[in-house]
Amino acid sequence: MIITHTLGFPRIGPRRELKRALEAYWAGAITESDLRETAATIRRHNWLMQRDAGIDLIASNDFSLYDHVLDTAVLVGAIPARYGRDENSLSTYFDMARGSAERDLPAMEMTKWFDTNYHYIVPEFTQEQEFRLASTKPFDEFEEAKALGIITKPVILGPMSFLLLGKTKGARFDRLALLDRLLPIYAETLARLSSLGAEWIQLDEPCLALDRTAEELEAYKAAYETLREAVPNAKILLATYFERLDENLPTALSLPIDALHLDLVRAPQQLEQALASVPERIALSLGIVDGRNVWRNDLRSSLALIERAIQKLSPERVLIAPSCSLLHVPYDLALETKLSEELRSWMAFAKQKLDELSWLKRAASGKDGIVEAEFERNARAMQARRSSPAVYDQSLRARVNEARRDRLQRRVSYPERKRRQQRKLRLPLLPTTTIGSFPQTAEVRSWRAKLRRGELSVEEYEQRIRAEIERTIRWQESVGLDVLVHGEFERSDMVEYFAEQLDGFVLTENGWVQSYGSRCVRPPIIYGDVRRRAPMTLKWSTFAQSLTDKPVKGMLTGPVTMLQWSFVRDDQPRSETAFQIALALRDEVSDLERAGINIIQIDEPALREGLPLRQSDRPDYLSWAVDCFRFIIAAAHDETQIHTHMCYAEFDDIIEAIVEMDVDVISIESSRSAMESLDAFVRYGYPNEIGPGVYDVHSPRVPSVEEILTLLRKATAAFDAHRLWVNPDCGLKTRAWEQIRPSLTNMVAATKLLRVEL
Ligand code: GLN
Ligand code: ZN
Repeated sequence: MIITHTLGFPRIGPRRELKRALEAYWAGAITESDLRETAATIRRHNWLMQRDAGIDLIASNDFSLYDHVLDTAVLVGAIPARYGRDENSLSTYFDMARGSAERDLPAMEMTKWFDTNYHYIVPEFTQEQEFRLASTKPFDEFEEAKALGIITKPVILGPMSFLLLGKTKGARFDRLALLDRLLPIYAETLARLSSLGAEWIQLDEPCLALDRTAEELEAYKAAYETLREAVPNAKILLATYFERLDENLPTALSLPIDALHLDLVRAPQQLEQALASVPERIALSLGIVDGRNVWRNDLRSSLALIERAIQKLSPERVLIAPSCSLLHVPYDLALETKLSEELRSWMAFAKQKLDELSWLKRAASGKDGIVEAEFERNARAMQARRSSPAVYDQSLRARVNEARRDRLQRRVSYPERKRRQQRKLRLPLLPTTTIGSFPQTAEVRSWRAKLRRGELSVEEYEQRIRAEIERTIRWQESVGLDVLVHGEFERSDMVEYFAEQLDGFVLTENGWVQSYGSRCVRPPIIYGDVRRRAPMTLKWSTFAQSLTDKPVKGMLTGPVTMLQWSFVRDDQPRSETAFQIALALRDEVSDLERAGINIIQIDEPALREGLPLRQSDRPDYLSWAVDCFRFIIAAAHDETQIHTHMCYAEFDDIIEAIVEMDVDVISIESSRSAMESLDAFVRYGYPNEIGPGVYDVHSPRVPSVEEILTLLRKATAAFDAHRLWVNPDCGLKTRAWEQIRPSLTNMVAATKLLRVEL
């Protein structure tokens, strides 16, 4: 019999119980034991749900109060000295995760978990780093499940990925040099789990599916040989996901492990490669149910893969599972009450994916009538989705294809555009502007909530938004900004706002997934061809422009960002969906132009995060992403100034693509890096205009005139002042007006001082 298993389950709770408990605990409203009880309840609920769904091997230690990488750091005692050594205290743990105002301690660095929207705490290592077993979490949770009668499969981030995901502090050294010191702790952990009764232990090594050097691959071998010796009896399942093993496959199959998990959703071609070379002692775990997306599994084609594996390996050597932890999908489709029956029949959230695994196992063990009926239902849903008019809009497809044949280039080159734009805009040297949003205060958000509950009419709601826009325009005029924005008060979120107005997108009520700690996002779902029903931003932008003689920027969200922050279709390449979104934006641009908006900003903050994990896949991605952006702006008038915004500070990977985008102005984050992010543009000889951020919007601190002036002088020393703009790092939606007023006042003052100097 084949084995079904899970690599991990969502931990935030079906109704975000953990989020609420964490925030209450941080606010001092509940005790540590209350928090721990909520956590235990969620774990129990998850385990029982998986057991009831018939999963053979259920993960434990996949739960976390904040982040599993942080848990691993604490497990092996990698607690930076500044947080203190009282490692078993919850306050140390949360200080590492969130910082402490009281102790004047910043949080540890956080970064994206591979290409997901989950963020992990980056482990820190010093050259003298010592490790020791400093937590009992995996053992406690194993015992907790055992008390419920479930022998789980503990999951631990593998030692190689743990080191590779971390960063070194102080003197530069090779992180892998720490392996010898780290492995005894892992060995101890595995041995103890084995002695508690764990038959299988899962070690996650997603880093093995990425580009690796020969030395790193050698280190993998040494590491796993050591671990093998430590636990001769427990079975080790090494889990890879998010990418293909490719040239690392021989290394993976040479390790002394008992099973290897492959992500067959991301890279189905891996199966044949692995079947051809897997040694007899290793079983294969097929990751066939999509752990990254909300679509129902195509049971027939999955079964074909399973049968193929069984035929080559025999059932005893085949496991089936989701492609990765289910952490990245929402809990339960049954909590969605507003989805149409049609859409619902195409989807599966975490709970439904468990059932899919069970059906697949039953089918692989010999079909009976009930299984046949389920497969029939599944096939009908698949067929319906493939032929639904809700998914395919032939006239839209024809329009996209036709428009893509136009040249993807603006009519005249940047220097000529600049002359024409300047004649119209008459901007001063070093024009000042902001990135788009002004504070989304509790009050502004409450209007939207009231609108939803029917306590405010659409007219009343819009009246309030207009009043807020007017106040903001007046304030920007009074402080002396050159290019104004309307403030984005009508937007709950820069992607959701557009998703609500585009055909082909649907929003969920409870489709939350963890982003970091207690924070969750509810990504829209793109299920069909994307079409603009009507202008999306015109009303607000033209209203704002009608109030002032200063130019007001139109504000759109770019196609890559829209894709990155949504669940996307799995039935066509991302690029195709991106071009459909781009067509909607292209139409919006021309409506804005016609209505007298002369500057239009198309934000692409997620362009860089969309970069494929494997180097060899990047050129193709960047090429369609650039084409797609150029497709939006190619038809814009020469006089229309196109801006984009990207809020991060590392551009080396994408600078060429940015140059090819050929926007008139780009704004970037740079205040925290003291203008270093401008370097990539300077080195490259960036030909167009740029606004390096001079105000860190992630901090409540008000930057002084002097500070801003210093940053600006640095910028003008490195880059042609006639092509520089002055702006904050990012949007101001999370800041308070009391912080913004003095900050922007100082920004304008510093600019004026510098204009005199130049
Ligand atoms: N225009 C958006 C804002 O100002 C940009 C946000 C972002 O870059 N994430 O909020
Ligand atoms: Zn930004």
